[in-house]
Amino acid sequence: MSGPWLTGDLVRILVVEDDKDLNRQLVAALSGAGYAVDTALDGEEGHFLGDTEPYDVVILDIGLPKMDGLSVLEAWRRSKRNMPVIILTARDRWSDKVAGMDAGADDYLAKPFHMEELLARVRAQLRRASGHAKSEIECGPLRLDTKTARVTCDGQQVKLTSHEYRLLAYLMHHRNRVVSRTELVEHLYEQDFDRDSNTIEVFIGRLRKKIPAEVIETVRGLGYRMNIGEQ
Ligand code: CA
Repeated sequence: MSGPWLTGDLVRILVVEDDKDLNRQLVAALSGAGYAVDTALDGEEGHFLGDTEPYDVVILDIGLPKMDGLSVLEAWRRSKRNMPVIILTARDRWSDKVAGMDAGADDYLAKPFHMEELLARVRAQLRRASGHAKSEIECGPLRLDTKTARVTCDGQQVKLTSHEYRLLAYLMHHRNRVVSRTELVEHLYEQDFDRDSNTIEVFIGRLRKKIPAEVIETVRGLGYRMNIGEQ
């Protein structure tokens, strides 16, 4: 398998931004798009989280208290943390963009920016990381559109809560293998979520009431696997 295979909108994102309002807006936009989001308000905390937790994309402000964004980024890259990083720069600081790209940033956005643009750039990073260009995934009767965060079953839209969506989307992205409960808990929940793997069973139970139950197979002692039939 080709490394972290993160295709869609079900992934973990870290936001490091000291402006509280902007931080809140970023979290709202990213959670609204179906991502699990952790945040930090200063460089030290951001550095720590990015160094210890598995993120699929990081949004990193350059001007941060305690440790500036460029130093955070350089430190991550030195310790081989290679997740995609999008830096946020002040509009008039072109030198920040250059320094940021040199320090290992994958993309940048100048403030102020539209949330839609940020979300599009996040999607582009996720697609690049996964090596897929497609935004749709099919498993048997299910079709997942990662752009709109919608799931249909035989063409009918399936109404899912955000946790159910993330869980199902994760399984669909990894449809060729068994996914353990521990992995699901690690990847799907924000840090402060109650990381009890029993809740996964509860969500699986609810999903099985909304889609054909046999689509998600339980592999005893190992976890779950999408039953993708003849594919
Ligand atoms: Ca700042």
